[in-house]
Amino acid sequence: MDGLRDAVAALRASGRTVAFVPTMGALHAGHLALVRRAREISDAVVVSIFVNPLQFGAGEDLDRYPRTLEADLAALAGEGVEFVFAPTAAEMYPEGAVETSVTAGHVGTLYEGASRPGHFDGMLTVVAKLFHIVRPDRAVFGQKDAQQVFLVRRMVDDLNVPLAIEVVPTVRESDGLALSSRNRYLDAGGRRTALALSEALAAAEAAAGEGLDEVLAEAAGAFGDHDGIELDYLVVVDPATFLPVDEGATGRATVLVAARVGGTRLIDNADIELG
Ligand code: AMP
Repeated sequence: MDGLRDAVAALRASGRTVAFVPTMGALHAGHLALVRRAREISDAVVVSIFVNPLQFGAGEDLDRYPRTLEADLAALAGEGVEFVFAPTAAEMYPEGAVETSVTAGHVGTLYEGASRPGHFDGMLTVVAKLFHIVRPDRAVFGQKDAQQVFLVRRMVDDLNVPLAIEVVPTVRESDGLALSSRNRYLDAGGRRTALALSEALAAAEAAAGEGLDEVLAEAAGAFGDHDGIELDYLVVVDPATFLPVDEGATGRATVLVAARVGGTRLIDNADIELG
């Protein structure tokens, strides 16, 4: 931890810039798109791999979350990543639990936060710790986790964190499924069923000119075409506030969707232009 901090500090002192990509490992092409963006915008790249217990609730998939460290290290070596930080839970939380933490506020209790109470507090707390350990110039996040991006940006603004946030578009399979470490939980049937999320977003985009009610109806309709999927939430939010838009709203909006396929929770989102 100290070695990494010293190395990053030395690079920055010599006028070079450092970009940081926080991950939970089980790396896929979505993560590697973030790494490539980090490379484009900086002289050196730091990637962290840490499955953060603080952001998992009781009964969630902390214990079975995929851990593929060797393959991850090989993939990052292939990208020429200078530094990989893969701490243990004991290194990150030497006291076991934190006494001081970041709270995500109202937006952190909505959507993902409603289904996963405490998730965003745990996420922001570890991201704040990682920012302090690494001290990069920039940090790179995926649009795939749109609510996370909103809350990290808000934390950076609220707490004057001295770095810039860079966001990379969602990387998808050719049939539209957003890449996710959790996709590997899906069997062949579940993999087909999971397409309901991206199909719902495509339906929302197609209906965007007709207004909010039509967007929601068309997107919800995509779930009717699949069995074995349970919709958690489908909502259209204002990207500036992350609060739901009202009927009659126009302009850029973000459609958020979450659903459960068997035991696997999946999320996705897309920007639309409400007409
Ligand atoms: P995770 O390992 O799931 O915590 O994700 C680490 C980072 O990768 C986060 O900023 C995610 O938003 C991003 N990410 C995950 N999946 C994708 C994807 N399909 N496309 C782009 N970024 C992604």
